[in-house]
Amino acid sequence: MKTAAWQADLQQLHQLRLFNNVAAGSMTRLLTAFSACDLDAGDVLLSPFNRNQYLYLLLKGQLKVYLGSLDGHAVSTLKAGDCVGEISFIDNGHPSAYVVATEPCFVLCLHRESLFSLLQQSPELMQNLLELLCDRVRKGNRIILDSEQTANIDALTGAYNRRWLEHIFERESTRSAFNEKPLCMLMLDVDHFKAYNDQHGHLAGDYALCLVAHTLSNQLRPKDSLTRYGGEEFVILLPEISAEEARSIGERLRVALGEVKSFHAPIGVLPGVTVSIGLAQMQPQDSLQGLIARADSALYQAKQQGRDCLCG
Ligand code: GH3
Ligand code: MG
Ligand code: MG
Repeated sequence: MKTAAWQADLQQLHQLRLFNNVAAGSMTRLLTAFSACDLDAGDVLLSPFNRNQYLYLLLKGQLKVYLGSLDGHAVSTLKAGDCVGEISFIDNGHPSAYVVATEPCFVLCLHRESLFSLLQQSPELMQNLLELLCDRVRKGNRIILDSEQTANIDALTGAYNRRWLEHIFERESTRSAFNEKPLCMLMLDVDHFKAYNDQHGHLAGDYALCLVAHTLSNQLRPKDSLTRYGGEEFVILLPEISAEEARSIGERLRVALGEVKSFHAPIGVLPGVTVSIGLAQMQPQDSLQGLIARADSALYQAKQQGRDCLCG
């Protein structure tokens, strides 16, 4: 990072968010507090290991933001006109992310020493800075929410994963015991799936699993958690549903899948699949493992009875 000479282009700067509504007459005075720097591609502008005292305003080039380490995926990209460093600039703390130049950049830098005199000179600048801060906080919250959600989702099918099942079972079993309402589990296993893979290829098998997840979730209420439990096994938790109702829901799901004789996938038209289903109703003091074990043994019976059927 090298200090650069610069001449303010007032018209260009006035259009930037940081200077929105700032009186044209005060721009020149405000800008005397800024210095300018050039960055080369690969330069690290902010790092969680170095305290930051500057607000940076990117005027040319591109910056990428990385959380945790520089090896992962960038969580966002900053373009000309964007600000960076707002939070650590204000609280004099360590940045929470790395910010790296991906191409030669030109940035304006404002040291935190000038912050209060600038804010006194221009309430508009203060408002813009507060808005930029709010944006930054909201973006951070969205990243946390997204990563929390993806940690519970199976990447192939979009169904929930086992981690979520453990979490939701705690909640639903407590709720059903408290409300004295039933809680049922369906365990589904795709029939002869090894043969399906062997005959049509593993990729076709992947699309068939997506078809299963899609068909099942279309038939369920939002509170019925569809989980991909393992390779070609799915578990559905049905809150406030008796064994009799769960049986007819399971039958409806089985028939819905059986009716899909073929489906369109990006690799062509593929045959549908059938599922066998085991049903178990939660008993008082049942653990997740206990309930799964009973649904699994009902599923085993369904396989014994010739598949494409429901037991339990
Ligand atoms: P059954 O009717 O008794 O359930 O027979 P099956 O062939 O379905 O059961 P088996 O357990 O022998 O085989 C399961 C197959 O599922 C083998 C495995 O390769 C396949 N499988 C597991 N996960 C995936 C996946 O993510 N994608 C694909 N394409 N196949 C998978
Ligand atoms: Mg299986
Ligand atoms: Mg199977």
